[in-house]
Amino acid sequence: MRDFVDNDTIAAIATPPGDGGIGIVRISGENAGFVADKFFKAAKKDFSVLDFRTHQAVYGKIIDDKGNIIDEALCIAMWAPNSYTKENVVEIQSHGGSLVVHRILELAINHGARLAQPGEFTKRAFLNGRLDLSQAQSVMDIIQARTDASLRMAAGHLQGAFSAEIQSMRHSILEIIAHLEASIDFPEDDIEDVAKQEAEEKIDAIKNRISEILKTFHTGRILRDGLMTAIIGKPNVGKSSLLNALLREERAIVTDIPGTTRDSLEEYANIGGVPLRIIDTAGIRETHDKVEQIGVEKSVAYLQKADLILALFDASRPLSQEDLDIIAMLKNKKGIVLLTKKDLPAQIDTEDLQNLLQGDFKYIRISSINKDGLKELEEEIVSHVYSGNAGQAEGCFVNNLRQAEALQAAQKHLEECLNTIRMGMAEDFIVIDVRSAWEKLGEITGDTVDEDIIDQIFSQFCIGK
Ligand code: GDP
Repeated sequence: MRDFVDNDTIAAIATPPGDGGIGIVRISGENAGFVADKFFKAAKKDFSVLDFRTHQAVYGKIIDDKGNIIDEALCIAMWAPNSYTKENVVEIQSHGGSLVVHRILELAINHGARLAQPGEFTKRAFLNGRLDLSQAQSVMDIIQARTDASLRMAAGHLQGAFSAEIQSMRHSILEIIAHLEASIDFPEDDIEDVAKQEAEEKIDAIKNRISEILKTFHTGRILRDGLMTAIIGKPNVGKSSLLNALLREERAIVTDIPGTTRDSLEEYANIGGVPLRIIDTAGIRETHDKVEQIGVEKSVAYLQKADLILALFDASRPLSQEDLDIIAMLKNKKGIVLLTKKDLPAQIDTEDLQNLLQGDFKYIRISSINKDGLKELEEEIVSHVYSGNAGQAEGCFVNNLRQAEALQAAQKHLEECLNTIRMGMAEDFIVIDVRSAWEKLGEITGDTVDEDIIDQIFSQFCIGK
């Protein structure tokens, strides 16, 4: 039997709001077993939650303070340290009605737990050393992943592929520091020059490795957040037909993500594993009904926001003034030009457009009706997203700005360090810069990071995770 201790035990509903087959209330903390035991009664007589074997699923009833049966449920205790948070965790699996799970949560709170903050379970997993910060962040990425490639990346991060890479660089840096410090301590040993030369080589290698990793940011960010895509073209050019063809291919899962501002008019299409985040799908569909003129201002705003521009021109008709207006808007831009309605006799061809468009564009002829050219479009998008990163394991991609900025800062410190060495300055100065790089890399894993930043990261999580 464990003793009741006055410690912070948290509880939350872990399943999404609404009705479902099963609802889960999760309790974590020293007293998780005590709390659950107050309202969970195992079917087997006198079988206290505190006596459950770890990870044993026990069938029983949820009973409120007045003795009323709330629901039948399964209760699973995962005793420390073999749990998600490394603390005592009890999970109650009840029927998934929203009232039921709220009643169970209420019972947990009435019996000494407090409501968990967003991400607090994962934060505890991090603080208790089960995950590093980069792995903890990947938990959220797994939840929000919209395509297989995004999921593979997030799962690779959770497995620690990226963290291991960062830790290995930090380890090398510590060795450099140790060598340099040894040469400071024993100057008479004449190891000074050797130490400096070795340091220079190693620092250069780490700096190059960081550059390689930073190159993955473009792909990593897109796999995580989606490729912001603007589809533009005059009315009736085939925008909504294309959109439907893309979405029908394999409709990406759309979720509401707390803590991030998402335009409700966006939809995700899964294009060869790339989550295409299409801006203003409602607007595109609306023009279909109203056949309204596209507002120039609106289009300019899309183009500025977009990572990818898909510009549509109806190949079955001669270019109109509206097309020319769009061509003017596309000046000096980059993207993919789609000549639509390939199944109809052509009135314009690629060359006509190439002569008019000043920018960096690929040209593809498509027919949304026949699904012709869509494969080519997919290949073009995938190669654009993976450019320079083909063959790289997705688990090693940098996928968020905080990590990318820490890597950039570390790289800068290493560059300064190389300058210091090349200027022939003393070891002490070199050590200062290498140490700063070491600290910056530690911000990624969470070894050297402020509490405020940690709080801010976890506050973006959902409650119950
Ligand atoms: P939007 O106004 O740009 O969204 O254009 P829509 O997608 O609504 O298409 C306008 C018209 O063109 C509709 O009648 C579509 O059926 C037709 N359309 C769209 N794509 C194709 C295509 O690939 N081939 C043919 N023949 N017609 C198409």
